[in-house]
Amino acid sequence: MVQEVQPAAAGHSGTVARRQPARGSLLVAFALATTTLLWFAARWDHLEFLLPWRGPSQLVMLWSATLATLAILAVVRAQALEPLFGGLDRAVRLHRRLGLAALLLLLAHALLLALDALHVGTPVADVLLPFHGDPERGLDILAFWILVGLGALAYDKRLRHERWLVLHRIIGLLFLLGTLHAATEPGTIQDFEPLRTWIVILLLIGGGAWLYRVLLFRRFGPLYHYRVETLVQHDGMIDLVMRPRDRRMMYEPGTFVFIAVPGFEGQQRELHPFSISSSPVERDLRVSVRQVGDFTRRLGTLQPGQPIQVYGPFGGFTPQRFAPYRRLVWVGAGIGITPFLGMLAFELSNHDFRRIWLYYVARTRADAVYDQEIQDSFLNADSFIDYTLWISSEQGRITAKAIAEEIAPLDDYAVMLCGQPAFVEQMARQFRALGLPSERIITEELQFR
Ligand SMILES: Cc1cc2nc3c(=O)[nH]c(=O)nc-3n(C[C@H](O)[C@H](O)[C@H](O)COP(=O)(O)OP(=O)(O)OC[C@H]3O[C@@H](n4cnc5c(N)ncnc54)[C@H](O)[C@@H]3O)c2cc1C
Repeated sequence: MVQEVQPAAAGHSGTVARRQPARGSLLVAFALATTTLLWFAARWDHLEFLLPWRGPSQLVMLWSATLATLAILAVVRAQALEPLFGGLDRAVRLHRRLGLAALLLLLAHALLLALDALHVGTPVADVLLPFHGDPERGLDILAFWILVGLGALAYDKRLRHERWLVLHRIIGLLFLLGTLHAATEPGTIQDFEPLRTWIVILLLIGGGAWLYRVLLFRRFGPLYHYRVETLVQHDGMIDLVMRPRDRRMMYEPGTFVFIAVPGFEGQQRELHPFSISSSPVERDLRVSVRQVGDFTRRLGTLQPGQPIQVYGPFGGFTPQRFAPYRRLVWVGAGIGITPFLGMLAFELSNHDFRRIWLYYVARTRADAVYDQEIQDSFLNADSFIDYTLWISSEQGRITAKAIAEEIAPLDDYAVMLCGQPAFVEQMARQFRALGLPSERIITEELQFR
């Protein structure tokens, strides 16, 4: 299980590495600060009329629009923007938080308007119910509740992924149209040129991102044409090996691609993300897929030669971006082992000799489909890779403590975690509780919702 350590590999702890700061958070802080400052500048002379509730209700509405714009930008799937968010996988996580915050701020806006109505003595129903009070506001209030309803529906886990995607697109569009409407109505935005300009910038960013993501990505995204070379069927899993039909995609190990199969009638437009499980030095591209639903099961029917569209690469879950970390703990749970397969193969060929502890967590031995491949391909007498197969039905849940004890007294490692969100979050929390700095915990969740 544990291999001999090559002394050269174990020796380096290297310089203290700093993970690239998440510029996405800085962008959010900058955007919110700009919105707030401009709103105050616009309303400074009339502030007393806007207290206690009307002013805050306007401000939270603008915050909501600002965050919604950034949420749309985060998932634009433009490779050029990936460094801003630290990879598409991290951007999706930021999108989730921003989207929720935008929705909650929208509700806060309604609540503050209701409080304002109570304060000035007008009926609360006038500001909450469509067509109850001012008929000109009727449509606005109706659109508001539709947006809130759709937002809530997006959290329904039973919704099929494709429907959930359509819902997301509608929500994004409604947010943008709402902001556009607010910007063109007489009021704070119209009255103050700098604020109006800022809102126009936000609208252009959000609208451009939405257009690219929804309408243009399939045509102008980073598309590579592959064909099926081989299909290896395991128990409930397949390895899909693809050969480039023209130019080959260059990628960093650990990144992921979106795959579409033009031959899948009724599902041609579906794009499914899969981590790359081959090494970038190889010509062929491999993804290893657990067959969980209609698309992944259908992949089993592919025939050699059939065309595959590959969009990518995406994501920041790659050891190449964390080069100064000389000691790495890799934990892949279930299908979360896939990016590590490509990383291992690359690590063996790049003569970097980083010290690696790999943990492959599977429920049963039968589930550990890639155990043999790891044993055969990546481990040898002077390997710099320690490998542990952790069978949770026999050994119980793996814990950060168990891993840290095995590695002790070394504590200057970075950990890369990949698997389902619950597993990744739990392990990351445990490593943080052990005192591992957050920048040394690099995660990828194999789920976008
Ligand atoms: C960054 C990333 C990397 C991934 N890498 C791998 C991998 O290497 N191997 C692997 O087996 N799986 C991987 N997955 C999961 C894989 O994308 C889904 O299992 C697959 O899309 C399910 O499609 P389905 O129609 O067969 O299943 P369904 O039954 O439709 O869905 C099962 C689950 O997959 C999600 N899903 C469905 N369609 C999509 C879609 N178009 N885009 C995103 N999620 C979707 C659903 O939300 C649901 O949670 C990865 C996911 C992400 C986000």
